Amino acid sequence: MGLIVQKFGGTSVRDAERIFNVARIVTETYDAGNDVVVVVSAQGDTTDDLIEKAAEINSNPSKREMDVLLSTGEQISISLLAMAIEKLGYPVVSLTGRQAGFLTQTNYGNARIKKIDTHRLHRELDKHRIVVVAGFQGLNRFDDITTLGRGGSDTSAVALAAVLHADLCQIYTDVDGVYTADPRIVKNAKKLDEISFDEMLELASLGAQVLHNRSVEMAKKYGVKMEVVSSLERKPGTKVKEAVKVEKLLVRGVAKDDDVARIAVVGLPDDPGVAFKVFTLMAKKKINVDIILQSIGRHNTKDISFTVPAGQLDLAKEALEENLEELGADHIDAAGSFSKVSIVGAGMQSNPGVAAKMFEALYEANVNIHMISTSEIKISVLIDRADSNKALNAVHDAFEF
Ligand code: ASP
Ligand code: MG
Repeated sequence: MGLIVQKFGGTSVRDAERIFNVARIVTETYDAGNDVVVVVSAQGDTTDDLIEKAAEINSNPSKREMDVLLSTGEQISISLLAMAIEKLGYPVVSLTGRQAGFLTQTNYGNARIKKIDTHRLHRELDKHRIVVVAGFQGLNRFDDITTLGRGGSDTSAVALAAVLHADLCQIYTDVDGVYTADPRIVKNAKKLDEISFDEMLELASLGAQVLHNRSVEMAKKYGVKMEVVSSLERKPGTKVKEAVKVEKLLVRGVAKDDDVARIAVVGLPDDPGVAFKVFTLMAKKKINVDIILQSIGRHNTKDISFTVPAGQLDLAKEALEENLEELGADHIDAAGSFSKVSIVGAGMQSNPGVAAKMFEALYEANVNIHMISTSEIKISVLIDRADSNKALNAVHDAFEF
């Protein structure tokens, strides 16, 4: 018995039947003697539909108005779920992000949570009410609604669990846990009983869609006990926690990101300060640079290539082309349609054979590697997007889980 935060994603509250299903999970937890705070996302594809609606009116709406619009999806969910809980005969109150005390940074569309003022939440919990909170939203210091970035309800839930010192934060979804690879693509993917924060953070950042990566970051920072469970089947999910045994299990999971473009700055002078100039340009435009490769200088020139999210390719290309002369470069080579396939595991660092095994699997599947990057806990390769599903399967099946 204690305080439990339960988060339900869009598919879990898709329609009336699913909403009652959620209401039953919530009220059972309450009946077991717990205080329950529930966080919900917008129903089904609501957020995407709202984005489409906006585009019909204005192809370049202000981010402020987008946040006013997108935050409505979650507001529908909280009221409907509260009505379902009411109907089951339990005390309940729904709160928007603002009513729940979420204060965020000023930036719209992808704001970070700065603080949660818990007065109202505590007042409602003291009255023994089930509290249903709208995920994905808060208020900034201009008194404007902000949203936390796509998938941000996970982060709302973990933040609440942290400030309320919850005993557990359960993320309910339509899969029954975290898998070694996306089970929709990799037939042999297996469900993990547990995974460490670091591994989960890598998987989430590398394209596994299960959790918002900032939610994992926050859970690690504040030591929130977290678990990913199915809202549709009653069975144990995946626990995300500090450290897990890694004696034998070297590779915990395989992920891919299909949203990658590559830029090469060709014919740069082989002088100090060149990389500094290139990446300062990217930083000024807030472009997220990922894998970086610099060629060995030859005939006093060198090339620098790097990957960026596909959506930022044009922006990056433009910024570099405008400064071609200043950089002393010959030309810019830009191309979309790449994927990044990564393996993640805490035991990887001390096992050089892991990389070789990954590359062998790709070779056998006849997949060409364009770039490689490694860290203590992951190895990523850049490949053609057309090869991504094949590569994901090949790499996954090369390892034992
Ligand atoms: N409804 C928002 C989205 O679709 C937030 C979330 O689902 O977590 O991105
Ligand atoms: Mg989600």
